Amino acid sequence: MIIGSHVQMKAPDFLEGSVREALSYGANALMLYTGAPQNTRRRPTEELHIREAAGLMEVNRIPMEHMIIHAPYLINPANSVRPEVAELAVEFLMSELERTAAIGAKYIVLHPGSYTTTDPETGIRTAISQLNSLQIPDGLVICLETMAGKGSEIGFRFEHLAEIIAGMNHPEHFGVCLDTCHISDAGYDVSDYDGVLDEFDRVIGLNRLHVIHLNDSKNEKGARKDRHANLGQGTIGFDTLCRIAHHPRTAHIPKILETPYIDGKPPYGEEIAMLKEKKFRDLMKAQ
Ligand code: FE
Ligand code: FE
Ligand code: ZN
Repeated sequence: MIIGSHVQMKAPDFLEGSVREALSYGANALMLYTGAPQNTRRRPTEELHIREAAGLMEVNRIPMEHMIIHAPYLINPANSVRPEVAELAVEFLMSELERTAAIGAKYIVLHPGSYTTTDPETGIRTAISQLNSLQIPDGLVICLETMAGKGSEIGFRFEHLAEIIAGMNHPEHFGVCLDTCHISDAGYDVSDYDGVLDEFDRVIGLNRLHVIHLNDSKNEKGARKDRHANLGQGTIGFDTLCRIAHHPRTAHIPKILETPYIDGKPPYGEEIAMLKEKKFRDLMKAQ
């Protein structure tokens, strides 16, 4: 099982601290933002302890492909109403791609964006033209995330992502990140995981799937809300999520937990242990 979680990257150890945090959870994968997800201030990569982090990954036999970067969510390549916003987004995304390459990671997860006041088709067309203006460093793959369909988000149908990838000048630089909370909110039946994978394969192609976000959902299937829940504390349930974590068809793909903190503390060590033991424990109950 390739399992990890969202981890922090902060002073003084930066990336090295991120890897240490992941190791403390018993993880063999991790995902991080290269800076605050809500702004564009970034530290020079020379200060990020990249070499130390890579050394720590190697000693623990974790390949760099298991270190996933998440692009900041302020980036909206689908904004057709204010193209200057989309252009700024792409400019900043360019610098994020360079940072991802400097770190030595291969996969960067990107939300395809929101169409704001137009319509999904216009949003998709805008995203296609914006993403086609990127110069993507060699070996790097942008993983478009399946979205919940909250507000005016695009990407809540596999067809949206397939259309974007089909419109790319360099499709070899594009893949998909499947978020279990988001697809359930979008109306897919996650309890039929094989059925979901079959449909994914038919519409996008399973060879495009590189990252799985493993989250429970606070809302019913089809609610289009995007509220993550801790494993076994939502409408998807522990058994289904545990089955996905161990499923042979996606065994080679890193699964990343983005579940909420409990009492201000990350629950990832406990949640990863539960998945390894295939046994649910109620973390909400005071011990
Ligand atoms: Fe995301
Ligand atoms: Fe996600
Ligand atoms: Zn989400």
